[in-house]
Amino acid sequence: TIQRPSEVQESRLLLPIVAEEQPIMEAILLNPVVIICGETGSGKTTQVPQFLYEAGFGTPGSDNPGMIGVTQPRRVAAMSMASRVAHELSLTSSKVSYQIRYDGTVSPDTSIKFMTDGVLLRELATDFLLTKYSVIIIDEAHERSINTDILIGVLSRVLKLREDMWKDGKDGAKPLRLVIMSATLRVSDFAENKALFPSPPPIINVAARQHPVTIHFSRRTSSDYVNEAIRKVGKIHTRLPPGGILVFLTGQNEINGVCRRLEGMFGKRALSNRNFKPAVISPTDTISHIALNQGRVFINQPQPHFDLFAADVEAEEMELGFDALEVIPSGDEGGAFDVDDLESDDDERALDEELGLSAAEAESFMYIVPLYSLLPSDKQMKVFETPPPNSRLVVVSTNVAETSLTIPGIRYVVDCGRAKERRYDISSGIQSFQVTWVSKASAAQRAGRAGRTGPGHCYRLYSSALFEHHFDKFTQPEILRTPIEGIVLQMKSMHIDVVANFPFPTSPDRNMLGKAEKLLIMLGALCSPTAGLVAGAGAGAGAGAVDGGITALGKSMALFPLHPRFSRMLVSGQQHGCLPYVIAVVAALAVGDPFIHEEGLATDDDGDDSSSEAVRARRKAYFQTMATHSSLGNSISDAFKILSVVGAYEYAGGGHKFCADHFVRLKMMEEIHKLRSQISNIIEASFLGTSAMFTPQLPPPSDLQLKSLRQLLTGAFIDQVAIRKDLVDQNTESGTQYSMAKGIPYRAIGIDEDVFLHPSSVLASASPPQYIIYTEVVRTSRAWLKGLTMINPS
Ligand code: ADP
Ligand code: MG
Repeated sequence: TIQRPSEVQESRLLLPIVAEEQPIMEAILLNPVVIICGETGSGKTTQVPQFLYEAGFGTPGSDNPGMIGVTQPRRVAAMSMASRVAHELSLTSSKVSYQIRYDGTVSPDTSIKFMTDGVLLRELATDFLLTKYSVIIIDEAHERSINTDILIGVLSRVLKLREDMWKDGKDGAKPLRLVIMSATLRVSDFAENKALFPSPPPIINVAARQHPVTIHFSRRTSSDYVNEAIRKVGKIHTRLPPGGILVFLTGQNEINGVCRRLEGMFGKRALSNRNFKPAVISPTDTISHIALNQGRVFINQPQPHFDLFAADVEAEEMELGFDALEVIPSGDEGGAFDVDDLESDDDERALDEELGLSAAEAESFMYIVPLYSLLPSDKQMKVFETPPPNSRLVVVSTNVAETSLTIPGIRYVVDCGRAKERRYDISSGIQSFQVTWVSKASAAQRAGRAGRTGPGHCYRLYSSALFEHHFDKFTQPEILRTPIEGIVLQMKSMHIDVVANFPFPTSPDRNMLGKAEKLLIMLGALCSPTAGLVAGAGAGAGAGAVDGGITALGKSMALFPLHPRFSRMLVSGQQHGCLPYVIAVVAALAVGDPFIHEEGLATDDDGDDSSSEAVRARRKAYFQTMATHSSLGNSISDAFKILSVVGAYEYAGGGHKFCADHFVRLKMMEEIHKLRSQISNIIEASFLGTSAMFTPQLPPPSDLQLKSLRQLLTGAFIDQVAIRKDLVDQNTESGTQYSMAKGIPYRAIGIDEDVFLHPSSVLASASPPQYIIYTEVVRTSRAWLKGLTMINPS
């Protein structure tokens, strides 16, 4: 029998889902698949596993002895939910356990197992029937992460197999059940998808008890949302009644920086030191500096202060370099869209009246807690602890707090409106992490966090006009914005051999699938259709030698979160001590060309000195720098030019001045640095490389190493070849002599028009090579090839 602590007994009764226990359990027992929708905080994640456990699931000797498996898109949620459910049931962490990539508490007597969706995907590769489980709960399905989508597709088949085995009376075989849980009602991609579930699964809606939340838009949208967030939190803290504040930002560095600064101004120590006298400091103090270093932690900076009570100081708009942030219409900053005047909190008096301020509340200090996936678990758990007396809880979080975690006592939400998202560049197929606007649905979820305990307020650090015109209604399923080659490789590594027949909740394009398989065969990740004529290899368990099956090389490639072309370079880049250079080149190509281009020179930042003298000097410096970096490896590859600047950057210790002097973007250089480190860690952890340990500074590569790099690049992009047009064109006299490649037409396989070497390429200012490989095509007035490498340098 179950012994719940008395405080848990009480709080459970308040959860709307508890009233639905009977209909939910009936539906689960009568149907192989059930969908449960319910607002965040209604009790899905903590209660449904308990309903199942109480009904005998996960208990040896019962009808359903197999474990209760619960997947989460994030590690934080897997860990914290396991510990919460263990507490509610008064069970140990070996009974209610979690498993994340490198860590876990699972034991032979685990009944309820929380795990990331990635963990379950990997288990499927070794135990396709999931024999250890009697029920799988896929949580947060509304997020439509690629892992969730693919899990649901795979599980629809596993259910069928388990049912057939059970009907055939195979020993010990029991059916598997699937519960899909969503925080929104938008579940038609699962519920009405006949390929996925031939008979539509029942949907249970849990009514939520939600208090009203007042939404306040900013009048203007500043790109410096980090400082905006700090200022807003300060205002709420000093002027508004008690209640926790939840701040949504985009990433770990940003969050740590904000926590540090808030701590310095409003933390316990800051407050007792100052006896709460708000520092009034010159507005020029560090603000623009912070804007430029946004997202960094200010370890060596004097603690920045804010004049919270002065008229709003607009921090200098920083150049973010993010595409999504450049869509802000100019009209947005003017009066044309002033529809939200009443909601504006720029006018502090209006805010005071609207909310009834109590200056006395500022006597308390802030209890500041960061929250993001990579935070150590003991620190993550702090959000659930009761804040110390005389303090206000301030949680600064990524979108992990959007639906996965319900933090008690939140009354105010500050939403920057952005999230870091994995993006797919269609032309290059390269993945990257970018800060983009969230969807309207996400913004609504964020606002809803303020209304769990009582009426709340949500402050959106963007204008209502921007929200109306530039926010998508829903977040697009990840599968539509991620390169398919990578997914196909992952699925093949799970022995899903005919990917085209796979029941995706939202299907990727079929031609894209075919193209993806072709590319993977070319890269050696899959067996070619003619190579493996082994008949009747069946369901594909085990052997990798079936048509289109994964090869050993492909299995290693599947370890990297990169486009398979780059993974291929990494797994075969071991010769001649090349690996560190391959990692650097791959990281640089995946992030993108960091150089500012010639046409960007004139309009570039420090614009007031526009005397022709200065312009000439600047252009001269530009061309000298470009020539210096191009010279690595005799101007035969754009990748070498980037490798050169990456090397110089690390020797110089990075920084603003270096980037200005070398005409590269700081943000991208930092990104390349981080990616190099991540790739090195994966190689080390998987024993693929002997010497992958990350050392940022690399000696210049030898000629032999450059030659290997060129061969690796050529091999990875061999289907993206362009040939000088005069060599293929019958009408042109052969033997034409050119001195410069600029304006010379080329032909590329699969492109039905002339293409040209992009003027920024190191190959464009020399005599035109006969054959090149390119990494991307960009269309403006012409189709330009970028990221070039010469195939047959003399
Ligand atoms: P849902 O999954 O529907 O969003 P949850 O099951 O996560 O809802 O949360 C239900 C309730 O349990 C919420 O009110 C939340 O505050 C509470 N809760 C969840 N985890 C904890 C925890 N670790 N400590 C205290 N309360 C918690
Ligand atoms: Mg939940």
